[in-house]
Amino acid sequence: MSDTDIVIIGGGPAGLFAAFYGGMRNASVTLIESLPQLGGQLAALYPEKYIYDIAGFPKVTAKELAERLDEQMRHFPVNVRLNERVLQVNKLAERQFEVVTDRAVHHARAVIITGGIGMFEPRRLEAKNSEAYEENGLHYTVGELRRFEGRKVLISGGGDSAVDWALMLEPIAESVTLVHRRDKFRAHEHSVQKLLESTVLMKTPWEVLGLTGEKHLERALLRNVVTGETEEIAVDDVVVSHGFISAPGPIADWGLEMSGGSIVVDSRMETSIPGIFAAGDITSYPGKLKLIAVGFGEAPTAVNNAKVYIDPSAKLSPGHSSHMQR
Ligand SMILES: Cc1cc2nc3c(=O)[nH]c(=O)nc-3n(C[C@H](O)[C@H](O)[C@H](O)COP(=O)(O)OP(=O)(O)OC[C@H]3O[C@@H](n4cnc5c(N)ncnc54)[C@H](O)[C@@H]3O)c2cc1C
Repeated sequence: MSDTDIVIIGGGPAGLFAAFYGGMRNASVTLIESLPQLGGQLAALYPEKYIYDIAGFPKVTAKELAERLDEQMRHFPVNVRLNERVLQVNKLAERQFEVVTDRAVHHARAVIITGGIGMFEPRRLEAKNSEAYEENGLHYTVGELRRFEGRKVLISGGGDSAVDWALMLEPIAESVTLVHRRDKFRAHEHSVQKLLESTVLMKTPWEVLGLTGEKHLERALLRNVVTGETEEIAVDDVVVSHGFISAPGPIADWGLEMSGGSIVVDSRMETSIPGIFAAGDITSYPGKLKLIAVGFGEAPTAVNNAKVYIDPSAKLSPGHSSHMQR
């Protein structure tokens, strides 16, 4: 249980930056994240990919950006709660909210929802025995590249992530085989061109039928989806990049006005319930863009307006951070 000024739901880039900004406004902050790590999509879905559209960073990996946001947030004593899923938010009175999770009940004077694309999970590989090898050779995210050093890697998928992972792993792994059930890849032309020039072995239009191996993964059975021809290849790791299934999860049941699975907010980033604010991918308003840079703007707007909601005598403007002594 905690009793804080602001409870932030979701530890993605918008939530991390909001938590930092809460500290800037002298607000006590509890940040609740359902995953075992901070960073949201950056850390969970594409940690090793480069991001090119963050102001001030010509190029930064998603993992590094998540780490920098974490470091920036730690300027302040934010109460970070990982592996904790928010199930319900109840407004008891003005400036009195109850945030119910699967582990505790938190009390807050304002709430900011930064739940992104909600509880997300990867679309599973539909192949024989695949469940038996999860986290034992079968991966849904690449994570640390080093763990693939000198290994025979098979990547299943045909989108940007599959192609990018194939290119990133090529210089590290012993071999990389990219299996895609269609003839054409749904990836940037530039990446596909690099793929054609690389040593990545492309198997199209093929699919993974099953996995075998005694104590750990040893072989993958492949099938040509047009001819029906089958082939078994030796593998140490299979990386599946078939996209993600996401749902707003419990957020849709909190009585907030929603639009197409997102939370409707006004120009103060306030939801239809006064005192509950939102920022990042989860928000909806005319002209909304689901970009990290946009979430970085929405987070301070939400926090500063939450500050005024908590203390109507407070100024909306935080002043300039360059005047802070830290
Ligand atoms: C492959 C890929 C590449 C991308 N590249 C770019 C790019 O180059 N540039 C760019 O601007 N954007 C990019 N994006 C999009 C970008 O990652 C998102 O816009 C950004 O992550 C949104 O941040 P967020 O904090 O709003 O939400 P998220 O990153 O989705 O984080 C939300 C967090 O909230 C948590 N959560 C949800 N519900 C609950 C709950 N009930 N209780 C507790 N925790 C909860 C989730 O577990 C998650 O960690 C990319 C996305 C992908 C998938």
